[in-house]
Amino acid sequence: MNKQANSRGGRGIEWCDYTWNPVRGCQHGCRWTMPDGSIAECYAETIAERVAQKAYPQGFEHHYWNPLALEQPLKLQRPSRIFLDSMSDLMGNWVPDEQVERVLAVCRQAEWHTFQLLTKNAPRLLQFNFPSNVWVGVSAPPSFMFGRKLSLQQQSRMIERQLDVLSQLSVPIRWMSIEPLSFDIAPLLVASDLEWAVIGAATNGRREFQPEPAWIEHVLQVLDAHGTKIFFKGNLKWKPWREEFPLPFRSHSEGERSAVGITA
Ligand code: SF4
Repeated sequence: MNKQANSRGGRGIEWCDYTWNPVRGCQHGCRWTMPDGSIAECYAETIAERVAQKAYPQGFEHHYWNPLALEQPLKLQRPSRIFLDSMSDLMGNWVPDEQVERVLAVCRQAEWHTFQLLTKNAPRLLQFNFPSNVWVGVSAPPSFMFGRKLSLQQQSRMIERQLDVLSQLSVPIRWMSIEPLSFDIAPLLVASDLEWAVIGAATNGRREFQPEPAWIEHVLQVLDAHGTKIFFKGNLKWKPWREEFPLPFRSHSEGERSAVGITA
């Protein structure tokens, strides 16, 4: 597992303490069109193919199964928020059911942790029973998947489908990563009942592109009306700042397991 915060003040992925990848590699081929017309590739793909090639000898699109990683959360005693599948999509159609079940069995066993699952393949969520310590989330669609461009209409339909799937799950926390917030998504969320949403800006390398202020205002209005907790990614420029977590929350303070909410 990879710890996110470091002693130099770096926070990594701010909304989790660790990333955990018993499954690695992804075939979704996500790409985003930036406001300046440039195309950003998936961050995990960049890491896999430029920084961590040794761990991805057959490229990022290959499916890697690492059963030795299954024990890692069990060895970590401190209750933590663990991003499950930062370098893959556990719900990808290429991941065998048996492997998904083995990962979920570890989540169930490591009941002191919170596992934060994100997928772009929401329909497959309906195949599994998730332990209550797994926060089940969907990512807002990119501009391209599987080498094909997604029109705004197709992205909107995908979001509607994602939210419909989430509404059918009986899990305590359903959430959405809206990163980047690249259009006025608020009308699509009016009927949502998300417990948590992470909102971020668009980035391509070091270049950041902030969402239109009206898009942020609208999405906050809609989500606040539902009582959805909000977490801003560090790349978003907005005030007042919000880093909230949903209830019930297992504090990552050692030994403290009460259900609390945090607003920074
Ligand atoms: S689903 Fe996630 S890991 Fe896979 S290509 Fe898209 S952004 Fe990257």
